[in-house]
Amino acid sequence: MKRRNFLKNSGLATAGVLSAPALTSCEDAPASAAQLSAPVVQPIVICTWDFHNASAKAWEILQKGGTALDAVEAGVKVEEDDVNNQTVGTGGRPDRDGNVTLDACIMDHAGQCGAVLALQHIANPISVARKVMEDTPHVMLVGQGAEQFAYEKGFEKVNLLTEKSKAEWLEWKKTSAYKPIINIENHDTIGMLAIDENGHMAGGCTTSGMAYKMAGRVGDSPIIGAGLFVDNEVGGATATGVGEEVVRTVGSFLIVELMRQGKSPQEACEEGVRRIMEKNKDKLDFQIGFIAMNMKGETGSYCIQPGFTYREYSENGHINHPSEHFL
Ligand code: ASP
Repeated sequence: MKRRNFLKNSGLATAGVLSAPALTSCEDAPASAAQLSAPVVQPIVICTWDFHNASAKAWEILQKGGTALDAVEAGVKVEEDDVNNQTVGTGGRPDRDGNVTLDACIMDHAGQCGAVLALQHIANPISVARKVMEDTPHVMLVGQGAEQFAYEKGFEKVNLLTEKSKAEWLEWKKTSAYKPIINIENHDTIGMLAIDENGHMAGGCTTSGMAYKMAGRVGDSPIIGAGLFVDNEVGGATATGVGEEVVRTVGSFLIVELMRQGKSPQEACEEGVRRIMEKNKDKLDFQIGFIAMNMKGETGSYCIQPGFTYREYSENGHINHPSEHFL
């Protein structure tokens, strides 16, 4: 855990907020009180884990004046295309039957969203999710329907199972033990949040889900409100870790609503994790992490990791704090 950067500010986007420019001429139209007090948010992007290449790609787009939506799509695609990342896109670990099934969702500043669940044979589920958002009246497409839709939109059929992931799956099959736990060192779902120069926030989340999961299992990552939520009045949040726990608390929506009530992104992430911990006092053997950002560009992140009981977490400070481990 310590070797990973959970939350990555891209480029120089550290503070995320600039002062409002002063009026230079009395001939200018008078600024409203709202204009004078409103912070001007500079572009900023954050993502889960240490995906520097992904955040750099998104940052490149934001710096050129591109939209947050384009930035998050292009950013997370970097991980979808990275065969060495075995929990996202091509190279992802398969389900217990040897099929790589991908989940992704995307959401824009206007509350538009799209998602694909258990999508096979398509390299960039985030782009299919965007097509669902933009080209259909629906939010989610699943399985064969999503795949068929992707082909209709021009996506190519590809083999997502790399030799490495196949070999590991065959090895796993020798034991056939079905214990659907997230491998702590290898669950690298990417969730990304960005604000563009127009002050629009967008988010994307993409994963191959839990390794060797039951066929048909879907976690939080493509579920709007669980794995990702964006509200341009408040901010956004996205999750990684054991999806079932995130779904049970509607985690990302919860965090955005906590920010709406006045909590900072950091406080909101901590409260979101605390709710999950409360429900799992006796069996904290999983990992969950959230990142969040408000419309001022303030960020937060929080994570729990396995091996400790609830009491140990709270007393010995084993809850990872971004300033210690993730920034
Ligand atoms: N949240 C993902 C899922 O449950 C897995 C992960 O983040 O590693 O499918």
